[in-house]
Amino acid sequence: MAKKKIVILGAGYGGLRTLRNLQKAKPDAEITIINKNDYHYEATWLHEVAAGTIEANDACFPIKDQVKGDTKFIQDAVVKVNKDDKTVELEQHGLISYDYLLFALGFESESFGTPGVEEYTLPIADIPSTKRIREHIETKFSEWKTTQNDELLTIIVGGAGFTGFEFLGELTNRIPHLVKQYDVPREKIRIICIEAAPSVLPMFTKDLANYAISRLEDRGVEFKIGHPIKEATPDSVIYADGEELKEIKTATFIWGAGVRGSSVVGASGFDERRGRVMVNANLTVPGNEEILIIGDCSAVMDPANNRPYPTTAQIAIQQADYAAANLVALINGQPLKDFVYKPKGTVCSLGDNDAMGLVGDKPLKGYRASVIKKVIDDRSILMLGGIGTMLKKGKFQFYK
Ligand code: FAD
Ligand code: NAD
Repeated sequence: MAKKKIVILGAGYGGLRTLRNLQKAKPDAEITIINKNDYHYEATWLHEVAAGTIEANDACFPIKDQVKGDTKFIQDAVVKVNKDDKTVELEQHGLISYDYLLFALGFESESFGTPGVEEYTLPIADIPSTKRIREHIETKFSEWKTTQNDELLTIIVGGAGFTGFEFLGELTNRIPHLVKQYDVPREKIRIICIEAAPSVLPMFTKDLANYAISRLEDRGVEFKIGHPIKEATPDSVIYADGEELKEIKTATFIWGAGVRGSSVVGASGFDERRGRVMVNANLTVPGNEEILIIGDCSAVMDPANNRPYPTTAQIAIQQADYAAANLVALINGQPLKDFVYKPKGTVCSLGDNDAMGLVGDKPLKGYRASVIKKVIDDRSILMLGGIGTMLKKGKFQFYK
């Protein structure tokens, strides 16, 4: 009898971790992993690539090194899943058939329909988009010398969520280097973060959120909190100030105001909301139990508040461990296990040597929190790429 086919879409946290587990479990099945790039990137380090505090290559490693034995890797972009005939449509390779599918295509930037955002802002979404941000900032700083136009030195960051804070932390670390390299006056640089909600980082205590704000303010960031962004134009941001609309001229507008699941979810006709599918407790899709969805394309209810868990690498990795076990169970005709999330805490980086967050449920800030954050980053690489990759790419420089 022909072997069953397991196809994995996406080599991010969810997809690559599932692959590693399956290769260890060795089910009697053909395994194929499909990803649009030939590299995995640590999406949790994208803010560092965007600010230019690490090189893009530091956050990436080759997928082929993770593909063992008979497992097949196809580098191609997924267009859609045809659930009825159990095929996946790829941009270059046509149709690939599956018996069991693991869908882990991750996140995209979300504009929420805000006018001008897709055209005129720079999202923090993947390696090409973050390389663009770094190059853009460098170009604008270098142009200042000839034009002396101060808008070239004004950087707007839309959204004060985790991504906004982590990017601001890195950017404020990079500014002294940019000042030196492009010979621009520090006092002319403005970094303004605009947040719609009346307060920031609601998952933390006020003390921790205020710590994050004050640390960045000390490094020159201006926060405008409670001011929804209404529009991006080619050379400005327009935001609400009460009933009034205000405008700030800028040559650089970075969008960190939210994410959604992959648009392939919608293209494939799944029942979805912002690219996320409410999966069964065992991570299968209602009505299509041969498909499992994990990571940012899945929604799993948090029983504590009856809302979906936030989309994080931490959850994607934990889901992957269940997904791999459940794929093996499907091959063997055994019952599937329900996913149980075990939160380990959340740490928000504020640049090198600074961070804040909850480790377990213990609040931590400053240097000690930043060391924990680096340990979390190293552990993630270990879980996805093994010890060799961690030793090559890990963050061991606790002092720079
Ligand atoms: P992803 O990691 O997004 O991987 C998806 C993979 O699919 C990628 O390799 C992509 O190239 C590939 N792909 C996408 N579309 C296609 C297609 N059409 N065809 C083929 N391949 C495709 N979470 C935390 O827990 N801790 C953190 O500290 C943290 N920091 C973050 C920092 C930033 C700046 C950002 C933006 C996010 C952060 N997150 C963090 C969230 C975390 O990155 C995501 O939740 C996580 O990446 C989701 O994992 P995933 O496996 O679902 O998808
Ligand atoms: P987010 O949705 O968590 O935060 C976006 C922020 O932008 C929110 O504060 C929102 O109020 C604001 N916003 C939305 N529309 C706006 C508008 N029109 N004007 C101004 N502000 C607006 O998104 P994120 O920060 O990109 O995080 C995405 C996911 O990744 C989350 O689940 C997060 O938990 C996770 N993440 C985790 C970490 C970490 O654990 N260290 C780091 C980064 C991201």
